[in-house]
Amino acid sequence: ALYEVPDISVPRYVRVNTLKLDVDSALLALSKKYTVKKDELLPDLLVLPSGTDLHDHPLVKNGRIFLQGKASSMVAPALAPEPGWEVLDACAAPGNKTVHLAALMRRKGRVIACELNKARIKRLKETITLSGASNIEVLNEDFLNINPKAPSYSKVRAILLDPSCSGSGTASSRLDHLLPSKAAGQDFDMERLNKLAIFQRKALQHAFSFPAVERIVYSTCSINQIENEDVIMCVLPMAESYGFQLVTPFPQWQRRGLPVFEGSEQLLRTDPAVDGEGFFIALFARNGANSARMN
Ligand code: SAM
Repeated sequence: ALYEVPDISVPRYVRVNTLKLDVDSALLALSKKYTVKKDELLPDLLVLPSGTDLHDHPLVKNGRIFLQGKASSMVAPALAPEPGWEVLDACAAPGNKTVHLAALMRRKGRVIACELNKARIKRLKETITLSGASNIEVLNEDFLNINPKAPSYSKVRAILLDPSCSGSGTASSRLDHLLPSKAAGQDFDMERLNKLAIFQRKALQHAFSFPAVERIVYSTCSINQIENEDVIMCVLPMAESYGFQLVTPFPQWQRRGLPVFEGSEQLLRTDPAVDGEGFFIALFARNGANSARMN
């Protein structure tokens, strides 16, 4: 074949929604029909054989488990919000990470889920309803227009920023790039990537300006340096001027940021060839909250 598609068989991961079901009960229920074990890194993640189809499974339908990949399930734990905190999910729909935050906070505190796209608000609300969370407020707003100095955000301690990205780390998009017609569109791709990167930088810089924020996670499902390391490198001086430092999410994870600036080993990458999908996670912290707690 002209265009070779890497043959990676990644396991099927499911995240247990601990708002509705404990991990051991989920393990027991699934083990009646499937080979299933706990993930070694994430306590609320279960691992099943590649290709296991659970779309119509009752536990999925009633929101007790979520079909969520491993990398995506690492983002909320990297932020590690404490029960009782106020947390802002800046780009929230469809809401997988929003409801994961709520689960980690064990119903205590407040999650603000901000989403610009009106059409995607419906999906976000459905995810929230399915999760059983009761402390999530949905905000149909441009994150860049939120006033960090407004009283309603004065207690926000953590921000999860998972902005629009090229999606180049996800399987469908990688196959897309192998199509001949796409190769001809490289200029178009560069223009699109530049636009995305400008938004990603702006959004991250906006996050630094919230007065009480101690922790910020930036994540993408892209493998492009321009949306990942370059964004971080560009905002670092501003981060430092606000007292933020890069810290290391999941220090035991082997695959780190591309070595393009000093400190980029603190960034986390997943590799499509190893992990089945390409994700990127950066974690900023300040106020002595400078360790990746709970990881
Ligand atoms: N975190 C989500 C999850 O895990 O389910 C996925 C988020 S998706 C990568 C990015 C989202 O950001 C999209 O729904 C998009 O509509 C939204 N978005 C884009 N620009 C935005 C802005 N300026 N303010 C708020 N949301 C925005």
